[in-house]
Amino acid sequence: MDCPGAEKLFTYRLPPGLTIQTGDILSVPFGPQTVGGIAIRCFADLPEALATAQIREVVDLVSPSLFPDNYWSLLERVAQYYHAPLMAVIRVALPPGLLMRSQRRIRLSQRSIETQTLTPTAQKLIEVLQNSPNQDYTWTYLQRQVKGANQGLRELRQRGYVESYVQPQSHAQPKRQQVVTLLSSAAPDLTSRQQEVLVVLQQQGGEMWLQPFTELCHTTPKTLKTLEEKGCVAITLQERLRLEQSPFESDQAQTLTPDQEQALAVIQDLQGYHQVLLHGVTGSGKTEVYLQAIAPTLKRGQSVLVLVPEIGLTPQLTDRFRARFGDRVCVYHSALSDGERYDTWRQMLTETAQVVIGTRSAIFSPLPNLGMVILDEEHDTGYKQDRPAPCYHARTVARWRAEAEDCPLILGSATPSLESWATSQHLLPHTKSEPSNHHYLSLPQRVHARPMPPISIVDMRQELEQGNRSLFSRKLQAGLQQLHSGQQGLLFIHRRGHSTFVSCRSCGYVVECPHCSVSLTYHHNADIKQPLLRCHYCNFTQTQPAQCPDCSSPYFRFFGSGTQRVIEDLNRQFPDLRVLRFDSDTTRRKGAHRQLLDRFAAGEADLMVGTQMLTKGIDLPQVRFVGVLAADSLLNLPDFRASERTFQTLLQVAGRAGRGEHPGQVIMQTYNPDHPVIQAVQRYAYETTVDSELQQRAALQYPPYGQLIVLRLSSPSEERVEQTAQAIATYLVKQIEALGLEAAVLGPAPANILRVARRYRWQVLLKLPAIVDGMPAWTLPTSELQARCPKDVRLAIDVDPLTL
Ligand code: ADP
Ligand code: ZN
Ligand code: ZN
Repeated sequence: MDCPGAEKLFTYRLPPGLTIQTGDILSVPFGPQTVGGIAIRCFADLPEALATAQIREVVDLVSPSLFPDNYWSLLERVAQYYHAPLMAVIRVALPPGLLMRSQRRIRLSQRSIETQTLTPTAQKLIEVLQNSPNQDYTWTYLQRQVKGANQGLRELRQRGYVESYVQPQSHAQPKRQQVVTLLSSAAPDLTSRQQEVLVVLQQQGGEMWLQPFTELCHTTPKTLKTLEEKGCVAITLQERLRLEQSPFESDQAQTLTPDQEQALAVIQDLQGYHQVLLHGVTGSGKTEVYLQAIAPTLKRGQSVLVLVPEIGLTPQLTDRFRARFGDRVCVYHSALSDGERYDTWRQMLTETAQVVIGTRSAIFSPLPNLGMVILDEEHDTGYKQDRPAPCYHARTVARWRAEAEDCPLILGSATPSLESWATSQHLLPHTKSEPSNHHYLSLPQRVHARPMPPISIVDMRQELEQGNRSLFSRKLQAGLQQLHSGQQGLLFIHRRGHSTFVSCRSCGYVVECPHCSVSLTYHHNADIKQPLLRCHYCNFTQTQPAQCPDCSSPYFRFFGSGTQRVIEDLNRQFPDLRVLRFDSDTTRRKGAHRQLLDRFAAGEADLMVGTQMLTKGIDLPQVRFVGVLAADSLLNLPDFRASERTFQTLLQVAGRAGRGEHPGQVIMQTYNPDHPVIQAVQRYAYETTVDSELQQRAALQYPPYGQLIVLRLSSPSEERVEQTAQAIATYLVKQIEALGLEAAVLGPAPANILRVARRYRWQVLLKLPAIVDGMPAWTLPTSELQARCPKDVRLAIDVDPLTL
């Protein structure tokens, strides 16, 4: 029995008459509360070690197991490989709310407060609480906000100024609603109004949810109650599944191109576990291959799991799947409400053959009879969870899952990750032993032999020399001038708020976050008078100073090319151009992705300006023009994968142009036109780039030739985090020597951004030989490592990290 709020296992006794199974959700006493927990192991007899312990009794069974057979071994494997508590893995897998993760909250009591008599910490807490919209906050929030919060809260509680309470939050219960069913429309003595209502109900098929029905025929529940008394209708409670659904038009399988045909034939011949890399340039018809590979799997009665990296991608893709497979398509991702996730989860558990489309965590979908797993855009970094634990990669888990279910795994991409490329080419140790399990399939051309759009590189240094100070080169300007509703364009900027830091033109002063040593980002919208500066790491916000805090110069403004700045400049230079903004700011609301894409597809704008999200799967035939503002900005990231990332991102964004009948055009602006990666992008030279990149990786034993594990340490104390990092590095070096391992310890080093949310961050990097047969070369002694961390130093282990 395992409880939330603790990562340890707890043992409980079953009350007489209650039988349970592994995976069942239970309510149990925990301290003074009753909380949700999950049954992990059941014993017939009490284990000896616990014989003398006082063991409390389970309160009740909340829900029977929500996992299919042989699912536990997958969760256990994830926990083991990523050095994460099993409970953390269960939490990622299960729909939220099921374990009734209750929060401890603190609120102000009614008592009037004599502030002067309080300690400064207590005063600070009161101030924070008074400024909250509901005069309350979670316990953990207060601890994060105020130094020494524990002490202060104790003081406030003793004086009766605050109260703490537990708020359970769960929608993970079936939702029942009233249904009205027609029994007979033949009763006499009905008013004409009542008869009308019955006619409408009959037209609706004789049964409807009560609430929409009353709206439909402008009646009241009371009228329906009367009709029920007269025996004309029945009103019952029924479960209403909250599944995300959208209307769809059906379509049919396309006649495949010869390349698609060949790929499909290979996939259909596969028996049991195989890993296939489907390398198809953007617009080559990979999705059509997935669709036609799925159809026979469903026919056999098996389900299919389709993963996509980002939710912005799913609306269009979901439409295409619904058009082919109708209601058998389920969508599962974190933007759904808790209720929707709970209901979708239970829908997945049924034996029905279905297609589940989802993001990263959907790899844990509880499909009992899985026949195929597909990862679209397999190179995408969104498949890796950075934190919290488990820091899993959905592609790795997908491989384990496909192995366990003995079914094929299809990885699709226009720009495969080096890991998948090297695997498919049998370049890695673990693929040498089983080459027949790894396949490479290629779709080198777009459908209908549509050309890839030519890419022009513009040297922005020259533009400046020739007197063009605008954000847009003359070539880009010419491209923008040609846009109109029949011919749309995309403009790509790296990252929201990229280099929108505020700086002083007189002295160079840059406003930084007081907590995070990164520059603050400029935000402005029409609703607020004064522009805001915001930290992208910890969300610290302040208004923009009118003059330089350092030298008082009035030339203190934001410079750079964030989405807003670009849009302002576009509006100024091209007043007739209709522009939409597509980034994490404008797509935060639920359904916003879809709305924006629909509006753009409907021709409401000529140009869509956006960040990374634009690089992903947008498939709009009328997009003919793609501009990239700072093609080299990604190259400057301090990361050994910077070249790979830049190459992938630029080819993906270029791939959005000219997917319809008309040819496309791509313009990339850069300050670094001779860089080999920029040059390779222009030539669409995937293989040569990958080969030279792989040589460098091999020389340095970087992935995919070696395995990296990063130990991330953080603490409010700069000194202690550094000492701990040092101690851990020394310990690891000694262990490696003692065991005679071929491993290396790098660092300790301060993290890229030293300070985030008041915590100093250091890291130790461990380089191990490549994984063979799914087993790491060394299992980290995690408890030994944890034991070396003082109380205020946190250790997080990231296996196969994507960002360093
Ligand atoms: P990818 O997933 O590789 O980017 P898509 O599957 O989205 O490519 O295909 C690009 C476009 O070509 C889509 O509009 C799709 O409907 C169309 N398409 C794909 N395969 C065919 C085919 N065999 N015949 C005609 N059109 C196709
Ligand atoms: Zn200044
Ligand atoms: Zn910050």
